[in-house]
Amino acid sequence: MKFDRLRLTGFKSFCEPAELDILPGLTGIVGPNGCGKSNVLEALRWVMGASSAKALRAGGMEDVIFGGSGTKDRPGRPGRAWAEVTLSLANEEGDAPAGWPEALREQPRLEVSRRITRRGEGAASTFRVNGREVRARDVQILFADAATGASAAGLVRQGQVSELIAAKPENRRRLLEEAAGITGLHARRHEAELRLKATLTNLERLDDTLGALE
Ligand code: ATP
Repeated sequence: MKFDRLRLTGFKSFCEPAELDILPGLTGIVGPNGCGKSNVLEALRWVMGASSAKALRAGGMEDVIFGGSGTKDRPGRPGRAWAEVTLSLANEEGDAPAGWPEALREQPRLEVSRRITRRGEGAASTFRVNGREVRARDVQILFADAATGASAAGLVRQGQVSELIAAKPENRRRLLEEAAGITGLHARRHEAELRLKATLTNLERLDDTLGALE
C-alpha cells in the first residue's frame, strides 16, 4: 500500500489547509518543539480510523479540531467548527477489501477522508472513500489488512517503546497480530458474529409466527 499525499484542514495545530507529499523512500519531519510533527502522525492514525481519543493525546474526539490559538493577552485565530484529513493512496495491488463495492475496488486511486464536526456536546466523524460515504469499519479493515492501521506497529508514538516494555502479554500479542497482518480478521469475525446473531433472532421470530399460524 503506497500513500502519496496527506491533506489536513483544521486538524489540531493545522488551522489552514496543509498538504504533504509522501515521496518514495524515507520521509523525515523536522521542526522545533511544538511545531506539529506528532500531529502529522496523529492525523495519519486518525484518518485510518483511530477510535481512541486518548491515543491521539485528546480528551474527547472533538479535541482534534483546531481549538484556536493565542492567549488572554495575545489573541490569535479563532477555533474551527470542523476538521478533515484526507489520505491518498494508489490501489495498484487491489488493496481495497473484497467486501467493498466493486465500483470502489476498481478505482486506481483511493482518497480516504475523515471529517469531524463540532455538534453541541458531542462530535461525529464521517468517513468517505473517493467521495462516497463508508463506515468507519470499512476504513479500519482497509488499513488493518495492510498492517498499516491506526494502531499498527509501523506507527510508533512518543513513549510507546517504554509502554511496550511494561505492557501486559495480551497487549504485546496484539502487536504481533498486527505485524502478522491478521488484525482485519478480528473485525471481520465481529461482523460475522453480529450477522449470525441477527439471523438467529429472525429464525426465532419465524418460529413464533409459524407457531401462531398452526
Ligand atoms: P515535540 O518536538 O516537542 O514533540 P511536535 O513538533 O511533535 O513537538 P506536536 O506535539 O505535534 O509538536 O504539536 C503540539 C502543538 O499542537 C501544541 O502547540 C498544541 O498547542 C497544538 N495543538 C494540539 N492540539 C490542538 C488543537 N486542537 N488546536 C490547536 N492547537 C493544538
